Amino acid sequence: QSWPHGQGLSYGELQEILLTTPTAQREREWSSYYTSGSHLAGKNLSQALWTQEKWQELGVDEASIVAYDIYLNYPVEHRLALLKKTGGDEDATEVTFEATLEEDVLEQDGTSGLPDRVPTFHGYSASGNVTAQFVYANFGTYYDFDDLVKANVSLEGKIALVKYGGVFRGLKVKRAQELGMVGVVMYTDPQEDGDITEENGYKAYPEGPARHPSAVQRGSTQFLSFAPGDPTTPGYPSLPGCERQDPHASIPSIPSLPISYTEALPLLKALNGHGPKASDFNKYWQGGGLGYKGVEYNIGPSPEDEVINLYNQQEYTTTPLWNVIGVIKGAIPDEVVILGNHRDAWIAGGAGDPNSGSAALNELIRSFGAARKAGWRPLRTIVFASWDGEEYGLLGSTEWVEDKLPWLQKANVAYLNVDVAASGPNFAPRASPLLNQVIYEATSLVPSPNQTVAGQTVRDVWDGAIATMGSGSDFTAFQDFAGVASADFGFTRGPHDPVYHYHSNYDSFDWMDRFGDPAWRYHETATKVWALAAAQLVESPVLALNASDYAFALGAYLERIKPAAAAATTTAAAADSSHPSAVFDFTSLDRAIAGFQAAAMRFDAHVADLRAGLHHDYPWYRWWQKVRLFLQVRKVNDQLKALERQFLYTDGLDGRSWFKHVVFAPGLWTGYSGATYPGLVESFEAGDLENAEKWAGIIKERIEAATKTLQ
Ligand code: GLU
Ligand code: CA
Ligand code: ZN
Ligand code: ZN
Repeated sequence: QSWPHGQGLSYGELQEILLTTPTAQREREWSSYYTSGSHLAGKNLSQALWTQEKWQELGVDEASIVAYDIYLNYPVEHRLALLKKTGGDEDATEVTFEATLEEDVLEQDGTSGLPDRVPTFHGYSASGNVTAQFVYANFGTYYDFDDLVKANVSLEGKIALVKYGGVFRGLKVKRAQELGMVGVVMYTDPQEDGDITEENGYKAYPEGPARHPSAVQRGSTQFLSFAPGDPTTPGYPSLPGCERQDPHASIPSIPSLPISYTEALPLLKALNGHGPKASDFNKYWQGGGLGYKGVEYNIGPSPEDEVINLYNQQEYTTTPLWNVIGVIKGAIPDEVVILGNHRDAWIAGGAGDPNSGSAALNELIRSFGAARKAGWRPLRTIVFASWDGEEYGLLGSTEWVEDKLPWLQKANVAYLNVDVAASGPNFAPRASPLLNQVIYEATSLVPSPNQTVAGQTVRDVWDGAIATMGSGSDFTAFQDFAGVASADFGFTRGPHDPVYHYHSNYDSFDWMDRFGDPAWRYHETATKVWALAAAQLVESPVLALNASDYAFALGAYLERIKPAAAAATTTAAAADSSHPSAVFDFTSLDRAIAGFQAAAMRFDAHVADLRAGLHHDYPWYRWWQKVRLFLQVRKVNDQLKALERQFLYTDGLDGRSWFKHVVFAPGLWTGYSGATYPGLVESFEAGDLENAEKWAGIIKERIEAATKTLQ
């Protein structure tokens, strides 16, 4: 397996070290450090320096701080109140409800009472002070707002009250703003929590596993599907003195505030009896989980004399952010594997998001460090990244990728991201199909913490589903901007597991220690899966990327979008009777994919031969046989490294040119979940068949370029 080696240890010995070094106890210690105080983006220099120092002690060859100057906001003041107009004097009102906008301080959870805990607010939200009638808009998705428009619910000049869930929160604000609404209030409905609710008799945290009723989800409202990173420098790094753009293409201009379900109750109840009921509106509008508290889930608008006052004061500033970048140098200078996690959190804790990943990363570095100390030197270079500013919009990672782009495109073989390593027991990966086999292999080497049969691995208890790359974490710039094959994974909660207080003060060390991962075994397991996947990418002489998996995935994705094409052609024909209803012609794309599949299978067969050749007892090879084998391996690796790059289209997607990948992008109106062939799908959705033709041509060209790369 190990030729021309990673020196000092055999591959088996390396794997053994990576499987035996990480411990639950050490994961717990790392977590306890990172979750002990506020570490908001741009306010965590001490943690960056500490991380750098630890990595040096643990055995990386070098660790440095890489800073960027980034435009972002910090909260100053806010207010949310329900007002009743008292008649007579136009402006005379009575306050019927004044929200605290605070999460309760819990005696059992020290973090919830820290003096430097972070107020409840939205990243990149606009300052403003608005008083208006309000409308309940379900999840506030594009389709939800569209339903309201179709039902003639008046939205202009109103405040939207929406539930968290479904799509990325920034896109809720974006759509509300486009429809002329003046503010957005977002709350977490307990319907998100599956079975584990107070209504079902579970005690709330800190006594039990249900959601604390005062929990608030903070989070970014950047329009991430437009472009991540510093909103004033789309596509280039935020280095000192650089040119800055108007940020408003990618951040809101109306104010928004996040609230708890407890503080949403008076607002929702004020809508009882006003306007249509969500449940008889249409099948996607089931109301929510507060019916037992007397909420009828009416849409509104609220009566003219019953209004919300939403006041949001944000301070915008340009401030340094600090990535920590560590390196273990390999024998091959231009083949690099990058592993990253973000360090910044919305809150003083952040035991799940992101510091379960930060603990896992440190424990992984400790394991590779142990191998280094045992004399190992890797075949390929490993870069470790502790990103800052992920929460506001993938800031640290995006600026770094924009900064290092030429080098990354030359040398970066793969990027493996872990954000939340542990918030429950279910293994949940997403990846470029090039990396599927790496994930299968790594998970089948690591014991599962929840075995029903002794000896089960993570692979054994996971259904094997690997999602496509959308967005929402630091892999985005690697995958969609730089064309680097990327993967992301962690252990997540299911509907019967303790509720994870995402972006709330209660995502704390105490919660993790008593509910999330009490034995810290999911942390430990995440480290091992990550380390073994990395080791395979770093050490296997022929790169562990699989071209055929990509080729067949491309075929499956195309089949999946064909119904959308059929729907679009029918609508177009109905709208314009001069155009006969021709079904969109996929022949040339089908052919390009078939060509890629054939080339990929030939290529992978050749790779299999090469791998078998490497297993031979080559010492009896003549020197020229060794040189030839070496050159063949090098050529194949160059091809594999270049493959993902071929799917980049320089001009980018329509209306969001930062996104260059023609196969994967965050959904335009979902953000988190991935769209496949976004150019094509969005053209169908817009009913623009001419543009769909254009995109079919672009995609075909990129697939043919990929095919050529393998020949
Ligand atoms: N992971 C963060 C969130 O979901 C940031 C996502 C983003 O801005 O892309 O809020
Ligand atoms: Ca930038
Ligand atoms: Zn995160
Ligand atoms: Zn987060």
